[in-house]
Parts: sequence; C-alpha cells; structure tokens
Amino acid sequence: MYDLNYYGTEALVAEGEESAGLPDFCHKCGRCCRSATTYAPYKELKEMAERGEKEAIEFLSIFQPYESIEAARMVVPEQVEQVLKEAETSDDLDVSEMTFYHCRYVTPEGLCGIYEKRPRCCQEAPAHGWSVMPPECGFEGWQFQQREKQKRWIRDLKTSAYILAQMSPDGVTHPLRPETTLQDLREMVEAKIKPWKRFGADYW
Ligand code: SF4
Ligand code: SF4
Repeated sequence: MYDLNYYGTEALVAEGEESAGLPDFCHKCGRCCRSATTYAPYKELKEMAERGEKEAIEFLSIFQPYESIEAARMVVPEQVEQVLKEAETSDDLDVSEMTFYHCRYVTPEGLCGIYEKRPRCCQEAPAHGWSVMPPECGFEGWQFQQREKQKRWIRDLKTSAYILAQMSPDGVTHPLRPETTLQDLREMVEAKIKPWKRFGADYW
C-alpha cells in the first residue's frame, strides 16, 4: 500500500534508517505492481495532483485504477482480501472510497518495463514495515525487522519525552540552544511519534 504525501513516507522512516537502496529481496512476482492502494481516495488523489503535489503526480503517472474492487480481485485476490481486512480495523481507510490500481508498465511476466526509470515510490517500496504487501512477498522478513527497529526507536523517543516532561517547567531552555525551551523540545519529540500512532505506537 502506498502512503502518499499526507502520510509522507519520509516522515515514516525512522531517523538513521535508509529509505532508499533497499536490499533486493524481491521475487519479481509483480503482484505489488498490480495491487496498489492509497489512503487518499482516487478523487482526492487527482485533486492533489492538480494542486501539483509531487507524490500524487508520480503515483498517477504509472498507476491506473481498476474499474472496481471486484475487477482487482480477479487479478490479485489475496492482496485485495488482505487490504480489505486491514481496512476493517483502520480509522484511515474507508472501503467505500477505496480504489485498487495496476501499473501501466508491469510486463505480463511480472517485471518492471521501466526499471531504470521507475519512480521513487517504486524504488523505495515497501517504504516501511507496515506497508501492506502481498502474502509471501520477499520483503516479509525485512518488514518484520523494520517494525521491530521502529518500535525500539519510538520507545527511546517516549523515554526522552518523559524525561523532558519531568524537567521542563515553562521557560526553561536547552543549555546548548537557548532559543529552544525544553517544552519545545518535548513537542518536537512528540511530533516524531505522532505519525506512528496509526500503527499502534501508543502501545509500544
Ligand atoms: S510483491 Fe514483493 S516479491 Fe512480489 S514483486 Fe512486489 S516486492 Fe517483489
Ligand atoms: S513502474 Fe515498475 S516497479 Fe513501479 S509499479 Fe510499475 S512495474 Fe512496478
């Protein structure tokens, strides 16, 4: 599943993590190229592209919508089921607004027809451990590792936020950055945690 920019994938990669240059665990089955979905509904996606939002333009330059969820199910049944199941428990996904897409450039053998020129969203997929990839995707193990790393990072951030909360009455500034109060710092740390809440960060 592609996140698109209002949950920008850059924001969803932990600091210090590489978002590009992924190890090549891909089996080249082509299923992810035939089963993309986004959190933004298709109509919203087109509006984002019209406003010049780069990730939406990039996405729509390669992906075409299936006519219906049933049409997508005929091609990639297991991935459609998986995403619909995810949608049942997600506050961010509305099945009635959901569209599945297939890429114009995937070959009948499941290979990328524009590999050297494929856009950034393809080079970086799966962007993080919670991207919904088809069952038995070669990145399953890598995604598991990413989820565990991300949880450790969030726990460290929570510890920092807690310590800052204990030592930051109003107006106290950072010793090395006098323009920044400790309260500001705490808010910055909490902002880093926020995008992960939809994956369960409150309970990590
Ligand atoms: S589903 Fe996974 S293994 Fe298949 S093409 Fe996509 S990334 Fe590669
Ligand atoms: S451009 Fe290539 S890698 Fe990207 S979705 Fe299309 S076929 Fe897959």
